Amino acid sequence: MIVVMQAHCKDEAIEHVMQFLDVHGLSGHLSQGVERTIIGVLGAVGPTGTRTTAGGINPSISDALEGLPGVEQVLTVSKPYKLASREFHPINTIVEVPAACVSEGVVRIGDDAVVMMAGPCTVESEEQVMTTAAAVRKEGAVILRGGAFKPSTSPYGFRGLGEDGLKLLAQARDEFGLAVITEVMTPNDVGMVCEYADILQIGTRNMQNYFLLDEVGRIDKPVVLKRGMSATIEEWLLAAEYILSQGNPNVILCERGIRTFEKMTRNTMDISAIPLIKRLSHLPIIADPSQGTGRRDLVSTMSLASVAAGSDGLLIEVHPNPDEALKDGAQSLTIPQFQQLMPQVSAVAKAIGRGMVTG
Ligand code: PEP
Ligand code: MN
Repeated sequence: MIVVMQAHCKDEAIEHVMQFLDVHGLSGHLSQGVERTIIGVLGAVGPTGTRTTAGGINPSISDALEGLPGVEQVLTVSKPYKLASREFHPINTIVEVPAACVSEGVVRIGDDAVVMMAGPCTVESEEQVMTTAAAVRKEGAVILRGGAFKPSTSPYGFRGLGEDGLKLLAQARDEFGLAVITEVMTPNDVGMVCEYADILQIGTRNMQNYFLLDEVGRIDKPVVLKRGMSATIEEWLLAAEYILSQGNPNVILCERGIRTFEKMTRNTMDISAIPLIKRLSHLPIIADPSQGTGRRDLVSTMSLASVAAGSDGLLIEVHPNPDEALKDGAQSLTIPQFQQLMPQVSAVAKAIGRGMVTG
């Protein structure tokens, strides 16, 4: 259920609605825009951390709410995901990430400017991380990616350097001022990964790992939630709802391709998911054309297509020597390729009236 307040209603009217909800065991989420104020209503938090859905709220309560001063109308949120829906929260969420390399000290994801995140698929060595970080920073990326805990399809594949990898990422952040994004695979590791990273990545294989989603919902660091490789958009938004419903509002969605019958690309990038998510949700969305295509020769084109479709950022694999990469070399851009891509991304962003976050 959402309560739409009259334009320019008094603060006391908002306060009154919030108190009314509290008295009736409900919780109100305030969304204050320039135009209008909306209060999203959820059932109260129960002893096990669960909430009753807004659909279960007594109709006499919604009638009573409609009669309160300053209330324009009361609407029912029709989607199964509530907090993630645009109905519930009409204004875009902007997720802030601290980064010393930008003049204001924070990168805003989901705002006007497009954000570039780049780096190796996997942290392999100090030299590899530092060389890549220096190069992507020079070209204007503001966030460094790199996996320390790798979900490997084969148990014989490289599984990452673990905490030593996190230390190398943190070292690169100290040296170049880039924010760091890295994957977390288990609830147990969330605390440790938070010590080193600025954004936690939930990988495609873990999109429906509900204990992990709960755990990252209990922190306040930004979380990039990759789309499950076989997940529908609704399942993906419900996964985001897990994180939001635990209290962490800083969720960024990431389209990284889905499984189809096509074999010539590693995945099929669902570019249409980007504008569709923008309609359905207020959450920022970024695109990962590296996992999305699995092919270095397609990454740049799909990066541009994603930005043209409204992506708030790109997550791109870059390696100083992709042919020798321990993981995902075939889909990693070389440093000169990344160099070439940056002005093109900036030109597409400009063509649709957006800027680029610059470091
Ligand atoms: C990655 O970013 O390297 C990765 C493993 O991503 P995904 O979970 O989308 O496969
Ligand atoms: Mn990868």
